[in-house]
Amino acid sequence: NGTRPLARTITRSYATSSGPHALVFLEHRDGIIDSGSLSALTAAQRLGGEVTGIVVGGPEQLKEVVPKAQKLGGLTNLLHSASSQYAAPIPETVTPLLEKVLSNSPYTHVVSAHSSSAKSLLPRVAAKLDVPAVSDVTSVEHNATENATTFTRPIYAGNAIATVRAASSVPIKFFTVRSTAFKPAEADGAEAKVIEVEPVEVTDPQTQHVKTEITKSDRPDLGVASRVVSGGRALKNAETFKTTLEPLADVLGAAIGASRAAVDAGYADNSLQVGQTGKVVAPELYMALGISGAIQHLAGMKDSKLIVAVNKDPDAPIFQVADVGLVADLYDVVPELVDKLKQ
Ligand code: FAD
Repeated sequence: NGTRPLARTITRSYATSSGPHALVFLEHRDGIIDSGSLSALTAAQRLGGEVTGIVVGGPEQLKEVVPKAQKLGGLTNLLHSASSQYAAPIPETVTPLLEKVLSNSPYTHVVSAHSSSAKSLLPRVAAKLDVPAVSDVTSVEHNATENATTFTRPIYAGNAIATVRAASSVPIKFFTVRSTAFKPAEADGAEAKVIEVEPVEVTDPQTQHVKTEITKSDRPDLGVASRVVSGGRALKNAETFKTTLEPLADVLGAAIGASRAAVDAGYADNSLQVGQTGKVVAPELYMALGISGAIQHLAGMKDSKLIVAVNKDPDAPIFQVADVGLVADLYDVVPELVDKLKQ
């Protein structure tokens, strides 16, 4: 099916490669580059070599995004490819483009955020090229002499850290990046060289994008907020979840999060779930209200800078990770706290 010969071509082209050259897949929405992609760019820079970005999208989207991406710190080149097929990109349509870009190219690494779409895209392209992909990395170190890259990544819901090494025999090393582990890159005044890439049209994709529904909120985005107020099963129902947490989140300018128990019981939207199967957050302040602190929840918030927990049960495991713990009824504490903060 053509996969093997392509993999061999890549192996040959990389045998003479001098230093690392990362290709960073930059995602965007509403004309703004995703914060996770900016963290991926920082991780790519840690490899110590050249960094090229790639953005794909509809022609109108790219008119807005390319000038912004071009200014990002650390980028030497910016590839862009516009097609109506990339307006809501799905792995099936973007994979052939990346295969083309990577074939006989200078790239030694392919990097992206550990986002839902990149989680489907990167392993797919890696499989097509017959190379492995490492996901959700929290650190990266490249040994240029050995042409080997060492990553760390949390496993078992963050209870252990695996160290993984991609050896020189891997011609292109693919990895996705846990955004909380790397500071987002910023514009640095320099401008990357912009290079247009012809799209690869897929005539009969087996999967088609139907629609995207985004939960609208005036609050800061949970994934990047510096303060998060989270509620658990103790919030009783959707109404008390809202009326108890919103005043506190408002006065703190915080995003709202939830445990899986609260989400499963319908108190909060899926998009608010924090944890192993939800979002991973690391804000300056994380308040866990009526959350027991199951390992799957801790996996999503234990790297927060200051963890405040309120729980009636003095033995609740959340207190083992909390910097400030209050054994109390949240229905007494939260209104009092809101009053004090307003003063
Ligand atoms: P509970 O464990 O029921 O805790 C409620 C807490 O509220 C208790 O500690 C209680 O003392 C306290 N409380 C009750 N009333 C009050 C009050 N008035 N004032 C103060 N405190 C009060 N969970 C996640 O959160 N995120 C995930 O991503 C996730 N992924 C999972 C993946 C897998 C594969 C599995 C098996 C589980 C996952 N879970 C996840 C579920 C997890 O194991 C727990 O069941 C869940 O986190 C419990 O939520 P909770 O703390 O809100 O509820």
